[in-house]
Amino acid sequence: MRIGQGLDVHALGAGDHVVLGGVRIAHTQGVIAHSDGDVAIHALCDAILGALALGDIGTHFPPDDARWRDADSRIFLRHCAQLMREQGYALGNADITIVCERPKVAPHAQAMREHLAADLGARANQIGIKATTSEKLGFTGRGEGIAAQAVVLLVSN
Ligand code: MG
Repeated sequence: MRIGQGLDVHALGAGDHVVLGGVRIAHTQGVIAHSDGDVAIHALCDAILGALALGDIGTHFPPDDARWRDADSRIFLRHCAQLMREQGYALGNADITIVCERPKVAPHAQAMREHLAADLGARANQIGIKATTSEKLGFTGRGEGIAAQAVVLLVSN
């Protein structure tokens, strides 16, 4: 077994939606990012890459590469899943925490789990999606940014 953890943060700015866990959610702000700014998927990718000791998402998808402008982050996740399989591992489970005051995550959590499971060749019951506010403290509390943490356990095939 191998364990990995990931953390991602993006700033919020002008816009009308955010993408979290592969789900487009209408919102009064947008995410400032080179890709679609999906912090949940970016944290999950870094957890998988960390478990495999294969660097981080920036190594594999440099933010200065024009190919990844506004990219669907599920492309990144599917690439990480491919690396995972090549190294002889499958997902045991993943646990993701999204930190923001808004938008509300819970109504979208099941759709996120299904998207992420599909990309990882796993089942939705192997993926936990949790959300918390930071009690209006710090950059997430002020609505200046959104953050996510992920932990994965990979099991040898
Ligand atoms: Mg990111």
